[in-house]
Amino acid sequence: MNSWTRRTAKSNTRKHPHSSLFLLLAVAAQISCAGRVAAPSAVTLTILHTNDEHGWIEESEFTDGAAKLMGVWRDVEGYREDGPFLILSGGDNWTGPAISTWFEGESTVDVMNAMNYNASTVGNHEFDFKIAGFEERLAQAEFPYVSANIRLKANGDFPRFVVPYVMKEVSGLQVGIVGLTTTSTPRSGFPTYVETLDFIPYADALSEVVPQVWDDGADIVVVVSHICHAEMTALVPLANQLGISVIGGGHCNELVAEINNGVAVIEGGWRMASYARVQITFDGETGSITELVPSTAQNNGGTPDPEVAAVVSRWIEAADAELSDVVGFASSPVGRGPALHNLIADSWLHAYPSADIAMNNAGGVRQGLPAGEITRGTIIGMLPFQNNLLALELTGSQVVASLRRGTIVAGMTTVGGFFHSDGSPMKMDSVYTILTTDYLYAREDYPYAADDPDPILTGINYHQPTIEYLEFLNTTNSNPLNQVLDPAPRR
Ligand SMILES: [Zn+2]
Repeated sequence: MNSWTRRTAKSNTRKHPHSSLFLLLAVAAQISCAGRVAAPSAVTLTILHTNDEHGWIEESEFTDGAAKLMGVWRDVEGYREDGPFLILSGGDNWTGPAISTWFEGESTVDVMNAMNYNASTVGNHEFDFKIAGFEERLAQAEFPYVSANIRLKANGDFPRFVVPYVMKEVSGLQVGIVGLTTTSTPRSGFPTYVETLDFIPYADALSEVVPQVWDDGADIVVVVSHICHAEMTALVPLANQLGISVIGGGHCNELVAEINNGVAVIEGGWRMASYARVQITFDGETGSITELVPSTAQNNGGTPDPEVAAVVSRWIEAADAELSDVVGFASSPVGRGPALHNLIADSWLHAYPSADIAMNNAGGVRQGLPAGEITRGTIIGMLPFQNNLLALELTGSQVVASLRRGTIVAGMTTVGGFFHSDGSPMKMDSVYTILTTDYLYAREDYPYAADDPDPILTGINYHQPTIEYLEFLNTTNSNPLNQVLDPAPRR
C-alpha cells in the first residue's frame, strides 16, 4: 500500500457524512449512465496550477499569454466549467508588464475571473499596492484568496481580507484548499505595507488549520502556497501527518512536479508560460486516493479562448490609451548622454527623497527622447525593463568602489573628486542611502549584494519616477524640457 492511500485512509476516519454523500452521488451517476446500479467507480480530479503570473496576460516573446493558456487547458487538458477540475494559483498574480502594473492588478484579476480560477493564495506581490489596493482586487475577484499563516499583529486574528481555506465541491468530492504565504513577505516587498501583519511559520498554521478542514468534511486536502520548492519539501513530513495530498508552490518561479513520500509537490514556472497539474484519482468505495500523478506542461500552441482573448484585448487597448498620455515636451531630441542620464537619475531621488544617491547603469537606458510630445510610451521605450528600485545602506567608500564605467549618478559627482551635489565632500566612512536597480544588485560584477544583504525593495519600477518627474516638471512647447535639463557630466 502506498503512503498516500494510508494517509487518506487515516484522514477518512475524521469525516462522516461525505463518504456516504459521495457514494450516493457516484451511484446516482452510474444509474443515469448505465441504467442500472453498479459499484461506484473512481473519480479523477485534475488540478491546474499556475503561480507568479505577474500580469503576463498578453502574448509576448516571454509567454503565449492567458487566452492561449485557456485554449491549452480546454483542448489538451479537456477542461470544462462543470468538469472535474480545479484551477489554482500560487500567488504573485500581478506586478510585471505595464498592462498589469499600471492598473494595479485589475487587468490580471479580470483575466483570472474569465479563466474561472477557483482560488489563489496570497503572494508577497499581492501587497504591492498596499493592503487597500489588495482589498480592491479582492472585491473584484470571483475567486477567494486563501492564506492560513497571515495574522494581524495586533491580536493574532486572521485579517479580514483573507480566509485560511476554502472548500470546493468537485464531482461530489469536497476538496479543502489551504493557503500559505511566504514568510519573507516583509522583506521581499515594501516593508511598511505589511507592517500590521505577521507571517507565522507554515507548520504552525497548517497544524492549526488542516484539522479544521477535515472536521469541515473534506475528502481531500490540498495546500496552495506562495513558497519555494525547498520549503515545500521541508513540509512533506507534516503533510503526511496531517493528510495533505498536494502542495502547490510559487515565489521562486520553478517548474516542479514530483511525488515526495506520497505527497504531490508542484510549481508551475511563471508568467503563464507554463503550468503544473496533478491528477488525483479518488476511490469512492474506500474513500481514499488511489493515484496521484503530478506533471508540468508549457503554454504552447493553444487556440486562443475567445472570451479570455476579448478581456485581454480590452486591457491592451486601455494600456495603449494610458501609454499615449503626454507627460512632457522636448523642443529638440535629447540623445543618450549626460543630460538624459542626469534627468533619469535625478527622477529617482525625486521619487524617493530619503535616499542620498542614485546609481544606474547607462545600459539600462535604451534610447533617447525624440523632439515633440513625450508620452508614457516614450519613457517605457527608453527604460523598458522590468527592473525595480532597491534602497541600500552603503558607506562612502563602498559607493566609490561600486562605480563602474557607465554608472549614472545623482546626488553626487566624481568630477575633480567625490562630492555631494551641493559641493560638499563625500565622507568615506559615512553611511548613505543609495538607490539602484534589482538588476544591478543581482549582477555578480557589482558589490551591492555583498555590501548590503538586506536591501529595501521599494516596489518602484525604474521607469516610473521618470514619468512622474516629467509630469512634475510640466514641460510644454513654450517651456520645453531642453531648457530645464542639467547637461553637466557628473562622471
Ligand atoms: Zn513572490
